[in-house]
Amino acid sequence: MELGDGTRAIHAGMPAGPADGTPLVSSPVFASTYRLSGEPAGPYQYGRLSNPTWTTWEAALAELEGGETVSFASGLAAVSAVLLTALRPGDTLLIADDCYYATRRLADGLLNDIGVRSKQLPLDQLADNVEGSTLVWLESPSNPKLDVCDIAALSEHAHQVGAVVAVDNTTATPLGQQPLALGADYSVASDTKALTGHSDLILGHVACRDAGRATAIRSWRSSTGGIPGPFETWLAHRSLMTLDLRLERQARNALAVADLLSRHPAVHDVRYPWLAAHPAHHIVTRQMRRPVGLLSFSLADARAADDFLAALRIVTTATSFGGLHSTAERRARWAGDDIAPGFIRFSCGCEDTPDLIADVEQALGTVG
Ligand SMILES: *Cc1c(COP(=O)(O)O)cnc(C)c1O
Repeated sequence: MELGDGTRAIHAGMPAGPADGTPLVSSPVFASTYRLSGEPAGPYQYGRLSNPTWTTWEAALAELEGGETVSFASGLAAVSAVLLTALRPGDTLLIADDCYYATRRLADGLLNDIGVRSKQLPLDQLADNVEGSTLVWLESPSNPKLDVCDIAALSEHAHQVGAVVAVDNTTATPLGQQPLALGADYSVASDTKALTGHSDLILGHVACRDAGRATAIRSWRSSTGGIPGPFETWLAHRSLMTLDLRLERQARNALAVADLLSRHPAVHDVRYPWLAAHPAHHIVTRQMRRPVGLLSFSLADARAADDFLAALRIVTTATSFGGLHSTAERRARWAGDDIAPGFIRFSCGCEDTPDLIADVEQALGTVG
């Protein structure tokens, strides 16, 4: 019998059968150097190359992702590790135009400077344009627009023309979606968001279907130095154990908030693919294992959005998403996304559903 998500999240990375008297959970190991005599041998030699706390954390993620996993100091360090190991001068990157803005900025900037061409297209046009590309990069559901694509179909098509596929799986987390099982070559994520979910650390990871790619990613980390701290990885593992509980509450809250928003006259363009009326509903229900806590919507203009945010009492105005605390922001206050001035990205936390609904309802009342 397949184990449930709660069991998997709690037990992922636990060593099998350690001796009596050893702690149930592991503690962080702080070490820049390890005792090492004679010819260098063994898994732990120097702290930039390996660390037992990373080993445990990466084993946990590998179990959930279904492929060897390498942890990084941030989501963007993980993103850049894939881009810079998979692409060479003269290659072409095909990237969805609603991807995380900093990923697109790397494509337009650094990659362009070293002779990697990048083609940015809407997510739903990637499949018809994979010919000639080395790497296809996408997010599904995307941040902040929650756009969705059929990962299995796109991966199959990309592999037919010799391209590899990387999915930024930040919004879904590996409990929500397993890109490698759907056929992608890389599953990349910012663990800063829902995966760890306590708004207290920055981390990222890359999971690979192919062991050779994982070795290249690991070697990239050793040679460029974007390593995670042992304390952060330990905190992250502690947080991972409650991922199922957090996602369950976040999803319940998101469904209730999306339902309320979709019936409110001041709100338009509610983006939450688990609403039955959403055009990508059939894709997420087939492709994803469970819903996310992130949604977005628009109010009439920037003023209405700012009034709404200011009126919220439980929901905090802040950037980022996926945490225990509900947060929201008017996304266009940052440059880089093609969105309306009144567009709000709303991250449902783990507060009680009636409290959250009451807060959103009263704040909407102030914008008329
Ligand atoms: C936040 C985010 C990143 C970058 O992650 P950091 O941990 O902030 O470096 C990458 N992709 C997506 C989809 C994100 O939301």
